[in-house]
Amino acid sequence: MVASSVLGFPRIGANREVKKAVEAYWAGKISADDLTKAAADVKKASWTSLKERGVDLIPSGDFSLYDHILDHSAAFNVIPKRYLGHNLSPLDVYFAMGRGRQADGVDVPASEMKKWFDSNYHFVVPEFSEETDFKLNFNKAVEEFNEAKALGVATRPVVVGPISFLALGKASKDAKPGFQPISLLPKLLPVYKQLLSDLKNAGAEWVQVDEPVLVLDSASLYEKEFAEAYATLAPVSPKILLATYYGRLDSNLSFVAKLPISGLHIDLDRAPGQLDEVIAAVKSSNVVLSLGLVSGRNIWKSDFQAALKLGQKAVDALGGDRVIVATSSSLLHTPVTLAAEKKLTAEQKDWFSFALEKASEVAILAAALSGSQDSKVAEALEVNKASIAKRRAFETNSDDTVRKRVAAITPDMLERKSPFAVRKEIQKKTLDLPKFPTTTIGSFPQTKEIRNARAKFNKGEITETQYEDFIKKEIESVVRFQEKIGLDLLVHGEPERNDMVQYFGEQFNGFVFTQNAWVQSYGSRYVRPPILVSDVSRPNPVTVKWSSYAQSVTKKPMKGMLTGPVTILNWSFPRADISRELQCKQLALALRDEVVDLEKAGIKAVQVDEPALREGLPLRKADWDAYLGWALPSFKLATAGVTDALQTHSHFCYSDFDDIFPSIQALDADVISIEASKSDMKLLNTFKQYGYSNQIGPGVYDIHSPRVPGEQEIKDRVKSMLDILPDSLLFINPDCGLKTRGWKETEASLINLVNAARWARQAY
Ligand code: GLN
Ligand code: ZN
Repeated sequence: MVASSVLGFPRIGANREVKKAVEAYWAGKISADDLTKAAADVKKASWTSLKERGVDLIPSGDFSLYDHILDHSAAFNVIPKRYLGHNLSPLDVYFAMGRGRQADGVDVPASEMKKWFDSNYHFVVPEFSEETDFKLNFNKAVEEFNEAKALGVATRPVVVGPISFLALGKASKDAKPGFQPISLLPKLLPVYKQLLSDLKNAGAEWVQVDEPVLVLDSASLYEKEFAEAYATLAPVSPKILLATYYGRLDSNLSFVAKLPISGLHIDLDRAPGQLDEVIAAVKSSNVVLSLGLVSGRNIWKSDFQAALKLGQKAVDALGGDRVIVATSSSLLHTPVTLAAEKKLTAEQKDWFSFALEKASEVAILAAALSGSQDSKVAEALEVNKASIAKRRAFETNSDDTVRKRVAAITPDMLERKSPFAVRKEIQKKTLDLPKFPTTTIGSFPQTKEIRNARAKFNKGEITETQYEDFIKKEIESVVRFQEKIGLDLLVHGEPERNDMVQYFGEQFNGFVFTQNAWVQSYGSRYVRPPILVSDVSRPNPVTVKWSSYAQSVTKKPMKGMLTGPVTILNWSFPRADISRELQCKQLALALRDEVVDLEKAGIKAVQVDEPALREGLPLRKADWDAYLGWALPSFKLATAGVTDALQTHSHFCYSDFDDIFPSIQALDADVISIEASKSDMKLLNTFKQYGYSNQIGPGVYDIHSPRVPGEQEIKDRVKSMLDILPDSLLFINPDCGLKTRGWKETEASLINLVNAARWARQAY
C-alpha cells in the first residue's frame, strides 16, 4: 500500500486565529492560557481535518506561535544572553527573541530574521557560540504528538534536523573569530538523542527530520557531520524519514543514500528530474521513498496524470510499501482552504488547490497508486482530468498585444540615457536635497482607521468619493508630519494600498484575488498573494493620481512608489503554464508605463521596490545566471524609460549582498536603500570593496520591532557608515516601510533619525 503524507500544515488557522490570539496576547488583552487554548484549537482543527481527508501520515510538532526555527532554538536553550535576566516568562522570552521587547525597563532588539530558502517566509536566525549550552527546555515534538494522540489522531512528528539547525544559524557576537556553528554538533547530538528517544518512548513510530539544507550546494561541506549525526541518532530514534525540499539533492545524494535512515523525502515538484537517480540510489536498501508530488509552494491543482506517472515509476521499482505520496514541502506556503473563497468564479475555483485540497490530493494519488478499486478514486481522477483540460484550454487565450510588446523589447530600452555621474548632477538641481538626505521607504502606519475605511469601501458602505477623500486626508496629514519633523524626500505613505503586491495586481489585468488566502510571512504578519492566471497589462495608471495629489500639497519633492516586477512576480503565485521570465517581462512593461507617467505628472523621484529580488535567486548557484538573466533586465526595463532628471530609487529588505553584489550594481538605480540595522556593517564593506558608486541608504534602524532607536544610537550608526562610505553617497532612512508600526514609535524614531542627520551635516 502506498501511504499518503503531508509534511507540514499552515499554522495560522483557517480564519487567522493565531494572529489574532498572538497579537491580543502582546497587547495584554488575553492571558498565556488563552493563547495556549487558541493554539490548541487551531492544531486540533488541522489534525482532524487532515485525518478526515484521508491522509495517513499527519504532521505534529510543526505548529508555531511565531516561527518554527525560533521554537527549536527556545527548546534547545539557544537563547542569547540579552533576553535573559529580565524576569520574563519563557513565553515572553520567546516573543522577545522574535520581535524585541521594549517595556517595563526592558529594552532588547529582535533577533535577526532571514528569508527561509527561496520563499517569502522568514525565520529567526539562531545564534551560537562556544558558550552555547544546549539542553532540552521542552520537547515540543512529544507534547504535540501526545496532544494529537489525545484527540485520537496518530501523527508523525516533525523535528528540525541537527545539521540544518546549525547551518542556518550564525555565530553570535560573543563567539570567537572564526567560530563555526557546525563545530557544536558533538555538543548538540546528546540533546537530540534525548528528544528522539523521548519521542520513541511516547510511541511515535516515525519521525520526520527536516534537513532542507540538503538541497543547497553548501550541504556538501557537511558530509561528515551528516554521517556522524544520523549514525548517532538512528539507534535511539523512531524510524527517521529524512525530509529534503525546495530543490534537488544533486551530488549530495551520494552521501545521503548512505545514511542509516528509514525513509527519504524528495521534492518532485521543484525537481522531478531527480527521481530516477534517487530510485537507483535507494533501490537496494529498505529505505521508504516519500515522493513530493503535490506542490507545497503553489496553489494550482495537481495534474494527477503527470503525478501518477512519476509515482508509478517509484512503485514499479520499489514496491508500493516503500512509496509514500506527499506534499513537496510543508504546506506552510499555501493558504488553508479554497472552501473559504466565495468570490472566485466556478471556473477559477476549479483551477486551484489550497492546503486542505492538497491533502485530499495526496490521499487520492496514494489510493490510485495502491490500485484502489474505490469508485470515488476513479471518479476523482476523471474530475481532475477534466479540470486540468479546462485550465489548459483557458491558457490558450493569450493577449497578442502584450506578447508582441515583449517580443519587441530591445537592449536600448534597458539603459538610462546617461551614466549615473551625469544623472547625479542633473538630479541635484531638480531635487535640491541637502547633504545626507533623509527619506523613508514608503509606507506610514496602516492604522485601524485606514483599514476600516477600506473595509467599508469594499463593502459598499461608503462611496468611492468618500473613500478617496479619506485617503487624500491621510496623505495630506502624512505629508504635513514629514514636513513638520523635517524629512527631505517625502513619500505619500501608501494609505491606499492593502499590500504592496496585491494593490498592483488588483489594478493590472492578469491576476485573480482571494478573500481569505493568507500565508505567513513572519511572526504574526501574513500576506495574501495574488494569483497570476493570464497575460499582464496595465489598463490605466495606478499610482499617478495619489503621487501627484501628494506632490500638490507640498513644495518638498515627493517620491513616487512602485513595487518592482520581480517582487510582484515572486510574491504572487505565478502561472505554471508559461515561464517566470515571460511573466516578469509583462509586469515590467506595465510598470515602465507607470514610471513614465509619474515623470510626466511632475514627480521627480520614483522608488521601485525589489525586496524579493534576492529570495527569488535559485538555491543552487548553477541556476543563478538563468534567473538573473531575466530578473535584472526586467527591473531595468521598468525603470529606464525616463529622462536623466528622474531619480530612481530601489529598496531591498535584506543585507546579504556578498554574492549578488554585481547584480545590484547592474540595476543602476540612482539610490538604493537596504536593510542594514540588524546585521553588521559587513555589507557596507562589500559595497566599498566593489567600488559601488551610486547613492545608498543603509537602514539606520530596524522597523520590524516596535522599539524606538535612540538618537545617539542612530548617530553611532551613521558614524560607522561614514567610516566606510563617501559622504556624497549616503542617504539616511529606516530599513523598511513603516506600515506595520504604530504612530507613536514611528514619530519618536523618525525625529531621532532627522536629528541624527542634522548632527551629521554639522559633523562631516
Ligand atoms: N514601499 C514599501 C513600504 O514602505 C516597501 C516595503 C518592503 O520593502 N517590504 O511598505
Ligand atoms: Zn523593506
